[in-house]
Amino acid sequence: MNEPFLLSNLIELQELDNEIFKLISQKSEGDTVVKLKSLELEFKKLQKNKQNYEQDLQLYFDAKDHIEKNIIESKLKIDTINEKLGSNLDASELQNYNLQKQNFEKNLLDYEKSLIELNEENEEELSNINKTNQSLEELKPNLINLSKTLQTEWKDIDLGIGKYENEKKLLLTSFPKEIIDLYDDLKSKGVEVIAAYKRENQCGCCGVELTSNEIYEITNSNFQQCPYCMGVVI
Ligand SMILES: [Zn+2]
Repeated sequence: MNEPFLLSNLIELQELDNEIFKLISQKSEGDTVVKLKSLELEFKKLQKNKQNYEQDLQLYFDAKDHIEKNIIESKLKIDTINEKLGSNLDASELQNYNLQKQNFEKNLLDYEKSLIELNEENEEELSNINKTNQSLEELKPNLINLSKTLQTEWKDIDLGIGKYENEKKLLLTSFPKEIIDLYDDLKSKGVEVIAAYKRENQCGCCGVELTSNEIYEITNSNFQQCPYCMGVVI
């Protein structure tokens, strides 16, 4: 199995795998995806803050609902009385409705006043919610744009991966099974450089200085492996 042709193909296979690996890591560690992830985190944090503010203001919201309901009811009652006042009424009815109207108008003013007070009391918290809402709105277009950019980038990366995968498949058709097994085995053992040309007396894979005896043994071994790093020395 010492044919240099096959063993140098191992370098080519490794280069293709390196390119594929680079592209795959680019998908999860590229600038756009990192930026998008941090924006998403920021967005979620703001949403959480908003939820907390709203929870803290639950009593305020309940009171506000209650007052607003009363305001609507008072207005409706005043409208009804106004309709009655527009019809034919005797003097006592007129007096009665006018009194009722005054009461409801006073109630309405009280409700409106208490709504203003309630809002003033919770001004700071309400402003926090508004600011958070604003920040959330500002983040949205950035998130959308980044997602679109990322999709385009990933599409290009996937095309690249597909291209290398095809080259790899084609290359592997010329590989004997035992060389493929060797490659997979070294890879699974975490050997960083699986095959490289010898540099003078150094192993091309790990850089260790080899004695002439070691070089002789490597050259005559089954797969020309360096005894230090297991890499294939060509
Ligand atoms: Zn080595």
